[in-house]
Amino acid sequence: MSLFGSSGIRGLANKEITPELALKVGYAVGSMYGSVVIGKDPRTSAEMIEHAMIAGLLSAGCNVARAGMIPTPTLAFAAKNFGCGVMITASHNPSEYVGIKLWSKSGMAFDTGQQDEIESILEKSAWKVAQWNNIGKVDIEPGAIKEHSEAILDKVGKASLKVVVDCGCGAASVITPYLLREMGCRVFTLNSQPDGHFPGRYPEPVEENLSLLKSTVAATNADLGIAHDGDADRMMAVDNKGRFVSGDKMLAFFAVREARNAIAVPVDTSRIIDDLLARIKISRTKVGDVYVAEELNKIHGEFGGEPSGAWIFPGMSLCPDGIYAAARLVEIVEKEGDFSRLLDSIPQYPVKRGAFPCSDKKKAMAEVAERFAELGNINTLDGIRADMEDGWVLVRPSGTEPKIRITVESVNRCDELYAMAEGIVRKAIL
Ligand code: MG
Repeated sequence: MSLFGSSGIRGLANKEITPELALKVGYAVGSMYGSVVIGKDPRTSAEMIEHAMIAGLLSAGCNVARAGMIPTPTLAFAAKNFGCGVMITASHNPSEYVGIKLWSKSGMAFDTGQQDEIESILEKSAWKVAQWNNIGKVDIEPGAIKEHSEAILDKVGKASLKVVVDCGCGAASVITPYLLREMGCRVFTLNSQPDGHFPGRYPEPVEENLSLLKSTVAATNADLGIAHDGDADRMMAVDNKGRFVSGDKMLAFFAVREARNAIAVPVDTSRIIDDLLARIKISRTKVGDVYVAEELNKIHGEFGGEPSGAWIFPGMSLCPDGIYAAARLVEIVEKEGDFSRLLDSIPQYPVKRGAFPCSDKKKAMAEVAERFAELGNINTLDGIRADMEDGWVLVRPSGTEPKIRITVESVNRCDELYAMAEGIVRKAIL
């Protein structure tokens, strides 16, 4: 049984992620920790899963503090005061999904070792069952948002920008607009009423979901726009011309300002940062923010991130923190001025991405590996990346879907390299 994917336990509510499953995960987590803080995003199924999880935790003798509807980074930040943290969320997935993500005291997501421990307890049904007089107690934890906000405000300066914030009806609604106002900004909000149906837009902060944010930033002459996913561990931005900022550009924007010695990024990240940060050690990891966080912890890096919008500032937390990222971005634009000009000074290399349905990813990848062997400098950290003089090609199996993904970046030969990779993949998935 493999319960945990690259983003914790996630699936369709009441089909894959049921109260029975949550109860058992509660038994297992409650057997390992004496106290937990639990939070949830606004999904319609989150409360049901939370209650089942709490019952399991209490049954194992674990005390539970309920932090209510809060963002994932806020919950991860609160975990330092408890044995661990539990977040009921399906992040950027559509409304019908739900999930359970576990957080260490350090603010880092459970690593594979900790996940294996939970799975092993579940497999052997080896959880604790408390005596009647040792059953856990439930408390309310009302201070998580305030504590997280204050920690962020301690780190960033005042700002007086005009900012449009699109919370996607997700958990950020309870913190980001208020925090930016505290900084001194004039804030206009879009979709900032929590609603588990996500009526305003899909929760993933990709360009096609953010047309209202782009037009509102342009129409109001705002200095920038901010968008979050459903649980606000991600943040993406729109510049003062109403242009969506690509993930690779946003990553480079933060990296050049945060990096001192070392940063960590996944293997599908643009070469822009290698060119901009020639003297910085750049560790590449498997795709998934937990791998970036683990690596940052190991190399004591100053910054890490994924082009999907997950930005990790270890000085703040090892959890990707979309709220801190928003505040830090506002602080930078306040100091350095004109966001679009700052962005235009960062180069952009042509990138092409695609995904191909594939039922036997292992077999297909073996075939791709054979064909890739002579292409260039090969990296097999996650899928196969071939680095050539003038670009790179990455072919990797999706971590969550029956698909093979291709990413190509090259200044002069993007289409040509993509066509070559597509040809190899199409043959391999036959
Ligand atoms: Mg998320």
